[in-house]
Amino acid sequence: MTKVVLITGASRGIGRATALLLAQQGYAVGVNYLQDQAAAEQVVSQILEQGGKAMALQANIAEEDEVVAMFAALEQTLGPIDALVNNAGILFQQTGIEQLSAERINKVLSTNVTGYFLCCREAVKRMAWRHGGQGGAIVNVSSAAARLGAPWEYIDYAASKGAVDTLTTGLALEVAAQGIRVNGVRPGCIYTEMHASGGEPGRVDRVKTLLPMQRGGQPEEIAEVIAWLLSDAASYVTGSFIEAAGGR
Ligand code: NDP
Repeated sequence: MTKVVLITGASRGIGRATALLLAQQGYAVGVNYLQDQAAAEQVVSQILEQGGKAMALQANIAEEDEVVAMFAALEQTLGPIDALVNNAGILFQQTGIEQLSAERINKVLSTNVTGYFLCCREAVKRMAWRHGGQGGAIVNVSSAAARLGAPWEYIDYAASKGAVDTLTTGLALEVAAQGIRVNGVRPGCIYTEMHASGGEPGRVDRVKTLLPMQRGGQPEEIAEVIAWLLSDAASYVTGSFIEAAGGR
């Protein structure tokens, strides 16, 4: 039977690459996005052209009612959810603590942390055996910045990813007996538009020689890790993290 996956922030970058890979592997894919409808529709069209199933789902993951409506729409059109990839995240320009405002901190935390919590909640409600669900798998996309690197350059972002890791560990323990696995991926410097939207176009090329592998990563390389963690090949893996950061 076709498995159903919801990927947040799948209109571009790592989310897009994951949507295309999982569709190739036979998943029906919910392609969530915030504002770039054309990009999300392009991902959906590409999947449909290749004989797959997909739908675009506009929702701000930081808004509770929008998350609830998104899960309902996914289920209604594609069927019960089997997998969730919490991927949508934001990064603002590097700055020191003295320049950080409450508004900026709250914006980062509401997307990168509250959004992940809300999507996990809606997924667990549907996947848990105690609710008649079939179990499932969740992958939370974190960052190497949660662990090391130069988190002081964007300490709000790094702190939000630290919270994501704590969520991953705690939720994995909470729902392991409900047939749900929860794991994390910590990418390093990946060629996507995130660095440009964080005011740093070209960042990956500027820092790549500092990395042990001497290169940035491609979104497809992160998608492969996510796909493995969701797959039955990882059936005994929960509460784990995979570093996908070129050795950093
Ligand atoms: P991109 O900036 O390329 O894409 C971000 C995606 O998230 C877009 O699809 C965007 O939608 C969506 N999005 C943003 N805010 C929201 C929201 N509030 N609700 C719903 N969707 C939203 O990001 P990346 O692919 O680079 O990053 C993906 C994940 O990987 C993030 O969690 C990031 O922190 C993490 N990561 C990335 C690294 C990198 O070097 N690129 C390194 C380490 C971790 P729209 O197009 O509509 O705006």
